[in-house]
Amino acid sequence: MTRPARLLIVGPQGSGKGTQGVRIAEEFGIPVVSTGDVFRANVKDGTPLGLQVKAIIEAGDLVPDALTSEIVRDRLSQDDAASGFLLDGYPRNLGQVGDLATFLDGRGEGLDAVIELQVPRAESIDRLTRRAFEQGRTDDTEEVIANRLAIYETETAPILDVYREQGIVDAIDGIGSLDEITDRIIAALEARGLARRAAA
Ligand code: ADP
Repeated sequence: MTRPARLLIVGPQGSGKGTQGVRIAEEFGIPVVSTGDVFRANVKDGTPLGLQVKAIIEAGDLVPDALTSEIVRDRLSQDDAASGFLLDGYPRNLGQVGDLATFLDGRGEGLDAVIELQVPRAESIDRLTRRAFEQGRTDDTEEVIANRLAIYETETAPILDVYREQGIVDAIDGIGSLDEITDRIIAALEARGLARRAAA
């Protein structure tokens, strides 16, 4: 029996965590749960949730914890997440860390590893500015980027201390080619005894 992989990927905006998250989830045969993607899809479709969060996202602020945590609990309760998942963009502050712990504890589960993707601030600003041209995301304006990065530093970075204390954080250098970075992450996860689907 291979252990299911319950993973979290954390990194500043522009660190490439979305791209790497998809690649790693694929390798481990688990679904990606990205709160940003869920919110964006709802905004695009004009659902009640989308209408509720549109202005918050466009300002680069955080959607309230109670709402975000409820969405994640619903998603993690679906069958395909029963034996593993990769969280991208959640938890994003200490309140959400508590909500997730309560939910997973209730199922007798916990996170196996937290991938911390490290990139210097100047590099992430560079990448985001480029992405703004390529993808036209409405929250990729200079002012909103600055707000999102500030929230990352004050609210999100501290969650890593909690997980470091649990000994589950793997710090990964986020500078290099996409393949190099994917390989670094896989090596770190395999060193924890987490097996890829392909190798299972
Ligand atoms: P980025 O990491 O580049 O900011 P995301 O796709 O992760 O992009 O998130 C986009 C936006 O969605 C955030 O700025 C925020 O408004 C909202 N959001 C995503 N995840 C969360 C979360 N866990 N808690 C609160 N708001 C969130």
